[in-house]
Amino acid sequence: MNPPNGPYTQGEGIKLISYCPLCNTQYNPLAARVLDEREDAHLVHIKCKSCNSSIVALVLNGAIGISSVGLVTDLTSDDVLKFKDAEEVTSNDVLDLHSELSNNQLLGYILKTVK
Ligand SMILES: [Zn+2]
Repeated sequence: MNPPNGPYTQGEGIKLISYCPLCNTQYNPLAARVLDEREDAHLVHIKCKSCNSSIVALVLNGAIGISSVGLVTDLTSDDVLKFKDAEEVTSNDVLDLHSELSNNQLLGYILKTVK
């Protein structure tokens, strides 16, 4: 059974984590991996067995019931765990990389590091 395609409905959140948003295949609940949990929230990663896409969803158990927000990602569940507490890339990081690239030192540095 395919989920109805239509405007946002009450069960949208549940629908999102029941079906792959890209190919509409129903997820196997056993394929969901809970990455993090608190009393009122779970961070879940689900990989679609049909199209190999993944979603990360935050499932919230709030005062008005269960809701979720999810996004399609190319991260594996291990990637999510690796990056979720990592520091964000700042504009200074981008400027540093740009200046390293500009003076052609970066490639030499990387090659030296790899050897
Ligand atoms: Zn899919």
